[in-house]
Amino acid sequence: MANKVDYVFKIVLIGDSAVGKSQLIARFSKNEFSLDSKATIGVEFQTKTLVIDQKMVKAQIWDTAGQERYRAVTSAYYRGAVGAMLVYDMTKRQTFDHMTRWLEELRGHADKNIVIMLIGNKCDLENLRAVPVEDAQEFAERESLCFMETSALESTNVESAFLTALTEVYGIIA
Ligand code: GDP
Ligand code: MG
Repeated sequence: MANKVDYVFKIVLIGDSAVGKSQLIARFSKNEFSLDSKATIGVEFQTKTLVIDQKMVKAQIWDTAGQERYRAVTSAYYRGAVGAMLVYDMTKRQTFDHMTRWLEELRGHADKNIVIMLIGNKCDLENLRAVPVEDAQEFAERESLCFMETSALESTNVESAFLTALTEVYGIIA
């Protein structure tokens, strides 16, 4: 009974290819990171169980498995999701500019109450920054999203980003 799961929350990651979605998931669920840029294949989701408000919450974190082209992500991917991480690479402006599309696609498929978090990944590469933090903050504010910059490589804010999203979901659902 000690391991009884009280809630299962499906969280989906979306964003352009190579922004670091798979590595963010690997870092959060297994505390692993790989510099090898293999396209994601195989496993659809990873899980991690954590305690929120003294309840056992199992996060089921879904990865796009190489469907990152516009409109290639199927509606099955979004089905049942209670949280979403919109990930861009802060060293690649285009990946941030595409957030509008991803957000539109997400809002077209997902539940109305889905918690959405904007993630600027690779903040370890500050010297290559192509997206000013103010631009991202402004976009997040305009679209009512939480926003954080992370580094899957250095573990910066990864736990914190997932925890923020999961806690917000918990507040809505529980
Ligand atoms: P995905 O296509 O969005 O799943 O991206 P991946 O997780 O496969 O990452 C793409 C590439 O970026 C890989 O070479 C990763 O090692 C690298 N990468 C991912 N996260 C970070 C990060 O936080 N910092 C740096 N410097 N590289 C990262
Ligand atoms: Mg991937």
